[in-house]
Amino acid sequence: MLRQAMLALSKSRRAERLVTTSPLTADVVRRYVADDIGAVVGDLTRDGLLVSVDHLGEEVNDPAQAEAAVASYVALLDLLPAGSDVSVKLTALGLRQSQRLATTNAATICAAAAGKGVTVTLDAEEHDTVPGLHAVHAALRRDHPDVGVVVQAYLPDSLDRCEKLGGARVRLCKGAYTAPGAYTRPADIDRSFVRCLKILMAGTGYPMVATHDPRLLRIASALAVLAGRDLSGFEYQMLYGVRPDEQARLAGLGARVRVYVPYGSDWYAYLMRRLAERPRNLAFFLRSLASR
Ligand code: FAD
Repeated sequence: MLRQAMLALSKSRRAERLVTTSPLTADVVRRYVADDIGAVVGDLTRDGLLVSVDHLGEEVNDPAQAEAAVASYVALLDLLPAGSDVSVKLTALGLRQSQRLATTNAATICAAAAGKGVTVTLDAEEHDTVPGLHAVHAALRRDHPDVGVVVQAYLPDSLDRCEKLGGARVRLCKGAYTAPGAYTRPADIDRSFVRCLKILMAGTGYPMVATHDPRLLRIASALAVLAGRDLSGFEYQMLYGVRPDEQARLAGLGARVRVYVPYGSDWYAYLMRRLAERPRNLAFFLRSLASR
């Protein structure tokens, strides 16, 4: 219930105005969103971690806003070392306006990123954008075979998706939104996650295991060994500000660990999704408001 309420709030313009204009939210925002992206990327990479940077923004209303998002990504590339990744939301590139516009814009980012040795991963968003996401991904793969895509395990067709994504870079996550027909019980989501992982690890692509869940992390590591993958054959991905000790521990064992780092002023919807994931975070958020 609380999760649903938080996700509904993430789409409310009124709540957004209230939260983003309050000076009281700064501490919570800083926990999850990089304020100085160059410095944060520098610190993480010095610690042996890889990064995927998300220039925050989604659901643009017109092509000019989408063009501005492309320009922000292209400028961002100058700050990233080779081997980095950028995470892109297609609704920030005009997917709601047209699939063609989003494909053209994403292709511009892919071409600029390739020139810097940086990869691109397409985030998965609301369920009604998922067919468009995979259509754009398939179109981009013709010229940019290493463009990655996200599969959300809470969707019952996620296994099917994984089977069809042979050879691709695929980030598997539980899913941060709501969707009709989606699994909602944690046990069902976890079971789907493991089924997808088995397909990805046994396949010919590059699995990116995006979870902080200790049990799923252990299962991923075991499945990688069973599939004969060494530590360079897959990677773990975690969010900036979430379980940093575990990120460091896995990297210390020689695993590839990529931290998803969001930055920019359009942080409201992202923050609400993080708070929705964990009621304890919400308490932390409310306490930090009350303590001022
Ligand atoms: P959970 O069961 O939610 O968490 C397991 C444990 O991790 C918790 O017990 C807690 O210790 C810790 N934890 C988890 N979340 C938090 C938090 N917010 N704050 C503090 N501790 C926490 N979702 C999409 O729908 N589309 C995407 O494109 C997408 N990209 C992602 C990229 C990355 C790199 C990651 C890590 C997640 C992404 N997600 C995306 C979000 C994902 O779907 C989940 O909502 C989120 O990762 C929480 O699920 P979990 O697997 O960590 O498991």
